[in-house]
Order: sequence, then C-alpha cells, then structure tokens
Amino acid sequence: MPKNNKEYDVVIIGAGPAGYVCAIRCSQLGMKVACVDSWVSTKGKATLGGTCLNVGCIPSKALLDSSHHVHFLNEQAKEHGIKVSNIQIDVPTMQKRKDKVVQILTGGVASLLKKNKVDVYTAIASFESTQTIKVQNAGTQLSETLQAKRIIIASGSVPIDIPIAKVDNQTILDSTGALALQETPKRLGIIGAGVIGLEMGSIWNRLGSDVAILEAMPDFLPTVDKAISKEALKILTKQGLDIRLSSFVKEVNVSNGKALVKYTSGSEEKLLEVDKLIVAVGRKASTEALNLDIVKVKTDEKGFIEVNKYWQTSIENIYAIGDVIGGAMLAHKGMEEGVALAELLVGQHAVMNHDHIPWVIYTWPEIAWAGKTEKECKDAGIKVRVGTFPFMALGRARAMGDTDGLFKIITDKQTDQILGVHILGPNASELISEAVVAMESELSAEDLARTIHAHPTLTEGMHEAALAVDERTIHI
Ligand code: FAD
Ligand code: NAD
Repeated sequence: MPKNNKEYDVVIIGAGPAGYVCAIRCSQLGMKVACVDSWVSTKGKATLGGTCLNVGCIPSKALLDSSHHVHFLNEQAKEHGIKVSNIQIDVPTMQKRKDKVVQILTGGVASLLKKNKVDVYTAIASFESTQTIKVQNAGTQLSETLQAKRIIIASGSVPIDIPIAKVDNQTILDSTGALALQETPKRLGIIGAGVIGLEMGSIWNRLGSDVAILEAMPDFLPTVDKAISKEALKILTKQGLDIRLSSFVKEVNVSNGKALVKYTSGSEEKLLEVDKLIVAVGRKASTEALNLDIVKVKTDEKGFIEVNKYWQTSIENIYAIGDVIGGAMLAHKGMEEGVALAELLVGQHAVMNHDHIPWVIYTWPEIAWAGKTEKECKDAGIKVRVGTFPFMALGRARAMGDTDGLFKIITDKQTDQILGVHILGPNASELISEAVVAMESELSAEDLARTIHAHPTLTEGMHEAALAVDERTIHI
C-alpha cells in the first residue's frame, strides 16, 4: 500500500550519467526534482552513477590503466632503460583499487545530488499513471508514490544475452563479470569484437590471458573508418588478441569449469576451449520494471523508447534520454541530452548536435573518431579531400615510445569544411576533442592548418593532417 504521496516538478527514473546530470540541471533551473534509482552494489549498498560509474566506463578504464602499466613494464620499460624483473600481478589488489575509484566517484554523484537539493530514492520506479510513479524499496516491500508534472525516463541499458551462451557468472560472464575477475584466466574467449570485447580483451590479454575473440561480422569494426580499423586490427593482433572474423557461435557447453565453444567459420566447423567466456554482443534498453504498458509509452522493434527531437515520448509529459532511447550508447551523449532536456523544460533554446559525438575505444593505441567516415561521405555523394599523418613522424610520439597509428582528416572537396576526423594512436581519446570543436564550429582544414599547435605535442599530428589535406605537410 502506498505510504504517502509527494509532489515534484520532475521525477527522473535512473541516476546514470543521463539521469543524474539531468537532475542537477533541472534543480539548477529551479525545479523541484526527485531522482529514483534501484542500483545496489554487490555489497548490498545503494550506489548512484548507473552502468557507467558502477560497471562501465569507470571500472573498465581503471583496469585498462592498471593493465597498461603492466604492458609498459613488459614491453616498453627496457627501451627506456628501466630494467624490471619478476613482475608480479596482484589481480585482487588491482580490483580493490578499481573498487575504490568507483566508490569515490559514485559517492561524488551522491554529494552532487544532495548539494543540488535533489531528493534521491533508492527504489524501483514504475508507472501508475502518466503523472504518478510508484517507488518500491527493493529490500523491504515498502512503497510510496510520487506525483510529477513531468517524468523523465533515464533507465539505461543492460547487456544482451544470447540463449546459446547464458551468463552463469562462473564460466560465462557479461561485461560486469569480466570486470570483477579475481584472477587472470589462462584462456579467455569473447563473443563479439565490438567496443566491450576489445576493451575487455585488452585488459586480460595484458594481464596474461590467451584471448580469442569470435566476431560474427566479416569486417572488423565496420562503423570505424576503414583506414583506421585496418591498422587497428594489425596492431591488436600483434599484441596477441586473436580476432576471428566471420565466426558464428553455434553452441556452448560448460563442463568442469571450462567452456567449449562450437562455431562456424565459412563452411568449417571449429572448436574453442576456454576457461572463461565473455559475452559482449551489444546492449538493450532497460525498461522491464517500468510498467510502460500502463502509460502506453511506445518502444521500437528493438525495445528502445521512441522519442521526438525534444526527447518527448508518445506521451506528452513523459520524456526519455540516454541509453534507453538507443543511438550512440555513450555516457557523454546521455549527459548532454540530460542538460539539453532540462533547459528545454524551462523554455530555453537547447540544441544538441548528434553528428559530432566523439567515439572512443580504449584499446592501446586508442581509437577515436567524430563525424563521417570516408565511406559515409562517398555513399552520400560528397566529394572529399583526405589528409593523413602517422604518429611515427611526431617528435612527442617518438619521445614517448608510442609511434603506432595515424590521424586522418576528411574534408569537403569544395568548401574544405572538416567532415570527419579519425585517430588511432596514444591519447586519441583526448586528441579527438579538438576535432569535435573544429567540426562544431564548422572549421575548415585550412583553419586548423593555420592554428598554432604547441611543440612537441601529439596535437601536432592534427595540424600536420590538416596540412596534408592540401598536400603541404612539413614533417613527412
Ligand atoms: P545507465 O548508466 O545504464 O543508468 C541507468 C540507471 O537507471 C541505472 O542505475 C539503473 O539501475 C536505473 N534503473 C533502471 N530501471 C530502473 C527503475 N525501474 N527504477 C529505478 N532505477 C532504474 N560509455 C562511454 O561514453 N565511455 C566509456 O568508456 C564507456 N565504457 C563502458 C564500458 C562498459 C563495460 C559498459 C557496459 C558501458 C560503457 N559505456 C561507456 C556506456 C555507458 O556506460 C552508458 O552509455 C551509460 O552508462 C548510459 O547512461 P544512462 O544514464 O543512459 O544509463
Ligand atoms: P557492440 O555493438 O559495440 O559490439 C558487439 C559486437 O558483437 C558486434 O561487432 C557484433 O557484430 C558482434 N556480435 C553480435 N552477435 C554476435 C554473435 N552471436 N556472435 C559473434 N559476434 C556477435 O556492443 P558491445 O561491445 O557489447 O558494447 C555495447 C555498447 O556499450 C557499445 O555500443 C557502446 O555504445 C557502449 N560502450 C562504450 C564504450 C566506450 O565508449 N569506450 C565501452 C564499452 C561499451
């Protein structure tokens, strides 16, 4: 039975990047805000920040960074004149550090919401009507109802499971399980060579696993510019990731703690035996608990909530943002939607350009891009000019000892406007920001070419690639 009834200007379901950022901005703009989130840590503690902070962006980057140090010690230290022997990897300590990073940041979200006077409910939210949300504490059966003029769904996403490889959290894991392993598996199999497959594969490969990745598609990273994906495949393969394209998993049998994966590659039937198997075949909208049917909020054929360009669902006062509406399932995309929607709700003119959302895959070298690929330009009938520049020609990359990769800038042949930037290289995740600003400001390659970049920095690669568009690079 509902205990009491509270009224808000806006109730937000979900405190992931989309939900908590939206809650803060709504509150800054003078609204009375409630944010409901059901996330409970493995230790049974309510924790905010959603997928990104608890089991996504942050813990994966913490382990990627730790494992990158191992990679440095094993592969690069010697060249720098640093002799190390008997490197010991203590996975439980690595995991503890990761947990601490997560704890600090999720605690930070709680403080931010408190400071911004957002009422936080640790509970499962479901619709009772278009303006009434039932919030039910997961542990107790206690529930209450919240009334709101507007309701924003930011309930995020969960991993897609495949019936032939059901996650058992022992031998078959999803990304959450893969980020919690307490020892390095000797043989690790991964289904899916997408973002998660490559990031998890990189972590555990650097920590000593033999990693085999089975990918159904014939092309490696098909949404990435071909020049970059081709080079990335070469480098990652050299690092030890055994990426098997056109590999369709047919059956998985688990016995004695091992997974035997049967898959086809062309007409051939093949077997792969591994100690752990990670399923990383994409994510789907998390809407199960919401009771969407009651309010008739429409979803598409894949289950993502349908919204118009103002993030309004099929019901006028109900909005949705973040992973739950699909598109780029990225934390920064959700956060920007949260800010823009809050501003729209108070009548401000908020725009968000989805064309230049930066993408990053945190392998090493990193892969980052924004805007169009060369193929997308070609398919759209746009005539282009292309400038590329390799990291090996950069003084700073040489000094770092990280010379793999390249910059690629694509411009409109007629106007010189930058249409896409693609980077494979160290710190590509940071370097891509300049490209995003340039594209958002509709700059030309000439603008970048005439902008002074500090020396010696990796950003000089962007400068040189811009010069290369006009065939006038200096340093190659
Ligand atoms: P979520 O973060 O999924 O949050 C939704 C919240 O809603 C959750 O806390 C959930 O418990 C809550 N919720 C759901 N239903 C209810 C309900 N009925 N009642 C109450 N609460 C509910 N993105 C990047 O940009 N960069 C990265 O480096 C990156 N790395 C990633 C690594 C991994 C391993 C994974 C899995 C994802 C990664 N992502 C990354 C993607 C990123 O995590 C998501 O895009 C982002 O978290 C989406 O934010 P969101 O707020 O839409 O949803
Ligand atoms: P993904 O869509 O990136 O990759 C899934 C891969 O699995 C695809 O290449 C697909 O062809 C393959 N696949 C699907 N079914 C298969 C099957 N049965 N057998 C073999 N291969 C199969 O999905 P993901 O890697 O699970 O990541 C989900 C989302 O999470 C990403 O799209 C991204 O938005 C987000 N994410 C982002 C980051 C980041 O920004 N660095 C990191 C991790 C996750």
